[in-house]
Order: sequence, then structure tokens, then C-alpha cells
Amino acid sequence: KAKSQGRNSYYIFDAEMHTQAVNRLTLENDLRKALEREEFIVYYQPIMDIQNNILMGFEALVRWQHPTRGFISPIEFISISEDTGLIVSIDTWMFKAVCQQLAIWKNKFPHRFPLKMTINLSAQDIRKASLMEDIDHTLAETGLDGNSITLEITESRLIEDLPQTIDLLTKLKERNIQISIDDFGTGYSSLNYLHRLPANYLKIDRSFVKEMQEENRNYQMISTIINLSNQLGLKVVAEGIETIEQLQWLQQLKCEFGQGYLFSKPLPVQEIEEKFLIGKKERI
Ligand code: C2E
Ligand code: MG
Ligand code: MG
Ligand code: MG
Repeated sequence: KAKSQGRNSYYIFDAEMHTQAVNRLTLENDLRKALEREEFIVYYQPIMDIQNNILMGFEALVRWQHPTRGFISPIEFISISEDTGLIVSIDTWMFKAVCQQLAIWKNKFPHRFPLKMTINLSAQDIRKASLMEDIDHTLAETGLDGNSITLEITESRLIEDLPQTIDLLTKLKERNIQISIDDFGTGYSSLNYLHRLPANYLKIDRSFVKEMQEENRNYQMISTIINLSNQLGLKVVAEGIETIEQLQWLQQLKCEFGQGYLFSKPLPVQEIEEKFLIGKKERI
């Protein structure tokens, strides 16, 4: 097809590919330096108990403050970090930073607790030999109990190496660390493996919530996922709640937890404190 448009289209195509490749290489190089230059920041997004309208905790989400390009979204750099293996160091740093923050909040706002902290893991983290050791070390250092931590793993990644995953999840369970299956509904083998995973939470991917309307297909899907989760003893978190209608439908369907712009976008420490932690508990 490109051929019929003449030689120039090859040229443009190549130039574009070239630019993309250079961009990616630059980003890769910058990423390698980002940790030591302390360019990563943690943002926190509230997770609500939507049946009782109270704050349940936060999901920690990494942000990259690039020296010249400004904020770069995880959507742009997480996959590069996974391809290059850098994700393991980023997540190790995240786990520590987030636990330290939770310990600070616990000390500073004791009347808000127990609050839970949710942290994302990649498939490569699961394969890292020293993962459990690092986790144990950080928990000991911060004095946190495992039950205040939830680790999120994307559904499709959980089942890539099932025996290894189950082995890890079992060890995490021994520490009372909770497991959440992220982006549920976007993978392929959900039902075959779900009952074999020692998980605690299931997060319904926001693509279902986004197009949810009463009695449409997504509504039925969410209803089915919630019923299935109840039978398997999993608690459900709905992602990407943006409207009051979505919230009310989810409440009707007895979904226990929810997260989304309706409650709050992910925010830096200072703003989380101002909006969610300072003041009397009754405020939220
Ligand atoms: P995720 O774990 O599914 O996180 C939820 C994403 O949805 C976040 O995007 C959040 O900002 C966004 N979100 C939350 N509520 C709403 C809403 O109401 N509407 C819309 N449109 N979006 C909403 P974010 O922060 O850009 O992160 C994207 C993904 O990058 C995450 O998806 C997660 O898979 C990955 N990620 C982020 N931080 C980390 C990390 O520290 N480690 C690892 N391994 N992955 C991370
Ligand atoms: Mg997540
Ligand atoms: Mg998610
Ligand atoms: Mg998602």
C-alpha cells in the first residue's frame, strides 16, 4: 500500500520510526539515571469503602518528574521499565518509600487508622529472588504489620508462571500481606485460575465501569464478577468510578470498595494530608 504512494512515503515512515526509536532510547537512558537522581515521586489515590462511605486506604502510584520533560505518565515508562528490567529497582524503591510514608501517617494521624496501603508489583518482581527478604526487611524497619499492606498484580501477569506465583502468594499470606488481582476482566484465563490463587481482592478494570449503564452488558458483567468473587471469598474493588450513577449502581450491586476521580485523583503527600487525613475522622 505504501508503495503505491511513491517513494516518499517509505522515507517518511522510516524517519518516523527512527524518531520513535531515538525517543525510546533516550527515555531508556534517562530512566536508568532517574532512581539515583531521585526523580520518582509517589502519588496516592484514596480507595473508599463505598458501602459505608469511609476511607479504606490508598493505592500508591509512581510518578516520574523528568528534569526537562516534566511529568511522564507511568503508561509511558512502565512498559519500557519492564522491558529493560528497571521495573524491579523502581518497585523496590516504591515499596520502601510507601511503607515509610504509611508509618509516618500512622504516627501523625493515629485516629485515621487502620488504613491500608496498596502497592503495584510487576511480573518481574515476582521472579526476583530477594523479594521476600526485601519485604521482610522493610516491614521490620518501618514497624508495619503485613496486614496494612496490599500488593496488586495484574491478572494477566499473575498466571504467567502459576506455580511460582502461588508459592510467592502463599509466603505473602504468611505475613498477613493482602493480594489484589488488578485489572480483572482484561486477561484471558480468568476463570480457569481464579480459584487457585490465594488472593483477597479483585479489582474490576475501569473499562467495565466506564461503559457501565444499568442493565447493559458491562453492568451484567460487573454483577457476575461480584457474585463470583463472593463465592470465592474475594472482596471487590471497582476502578475508575467517575460519576455518581456509577457509584450508585456499584453500591446496589453490593460492591464493597471503589476508587476513581469521583472521590479523588492520585495526589501528592501534602494534598492527601490536607484533604483526607487532617481533621476529625467524621469529616470523611
Ligand atoms: P493501575 O494499577 O490499574 O492503576 C490505576 C490507574 O487508573 C492509575 O493510572 C490511576 O491514576 C488511574 N485512575 C484512577 N481512577 C481513575 C478514574 O476515575 N478515571 C480514569 N480515567 N483513570 C483513573 P496511572 O497512575 O497512570 O498508572 C497506570 C498504571 O501504571 C497502573 O495501573 C499500574 O499498572 C502501573 N503503575 C503505576 N505505578 C506503578 C508502580 O509503582 N509499580 C508498577 N509495577 N506499576 C505501576
Ligand atoms: Mg493497581
Ligand atoms: Mg488497576
Ligand atoms: Mg486498570
